[in-house]
Amino acid sequence: MRKPLVVGNWKMNGTLEETLKLLTELKHKLPPNGACDVAVSPPFTALYTAQVGLHETMLLLAGQNMHWETDGAFTGEVSGSFLKDVGCSFVILGHSERRRMFGETDEGVNKKALAALALELTPIICIGETWEQREAGKTEAVLEAQIKKGLSGIPMNDLGGLVVAYEPVWAIGTGKTAKPDDVASALHFIRNLVAKAYDAPTASALRVLYGGSVTPETAKELATVKDLDGFLVAGASLSSEKFLKIIAAWDN
Ligand code: PEP
Repeated sequence: MRKPLVVGNWKMNGTLEETLKLLTELKHKLPPNGACDVAVSPPFTALYTAQVGLHETMLLLAGQNMHWETDGAFTGEVSGSFLKDVGCSFVILGHSERRRMFGETDEGVNKKALAALALELTPIICIGETWEQREAGKTEAVLEAQIKKGLSGIPMNDLGGLVVAYEPVWAIGTGKTAKPDDVASALHFIRNLVAKAYDAPTASALRVLYGGSVTPETAKELATVKDLDGFLVAGASLSSEKFLKIIAAWDN
């Protein structure tokens, strides 16, 4: 049984003061035995503060990126072992902003995913097509390349400990949420690919999230999409009120 997961990606937002404020609001209002796992992903500089603030709560922590090496001469980089050290359970990899603005490739995402799994840090691998690719009928080809390259060499046993986030690029931060039917067909395609590359039980153990302009208004309907396991939320995760409503969409 896959437990739903809702992850708040704060991106480059969150001073220490803002982090404490948001987490205090969340931890006091989060239901103690909620239906889903909940993680937040503040910037690197706020992870320690968040870890201290989250002590003895059900909230989990995620890094927004990592380097595949554990330490050394990589100025400006943060390794998976440092994320573990500061209490992260997850790391977001291959977010479309990192691919588009910082030249992140599927090969780099794959190296990071392998390194994260070796550290028992759960990778959340982001994939998704641009609007141009969708219009050109290339959505499945794009997803297939991202999945095949991103998961390359990951042993079958590790796949159940991995999360894929389907985030159509055109839906991120735009207010244009994908239609439930489009999310359902992308999910079906992703699980079929994994079933072909590995096997059906492995594909059904994989948690697959949707991300792209999820709001309290759209969350309820999206949460009914068959085989969907949760959300990766950015904009709305910066408001405790909105984020809590999105989490509540998974309480049946
Ligand atoms: C994201 O950046 O991963 C994302 C889903 O953004 P938003 O929720 O703001 O659309």
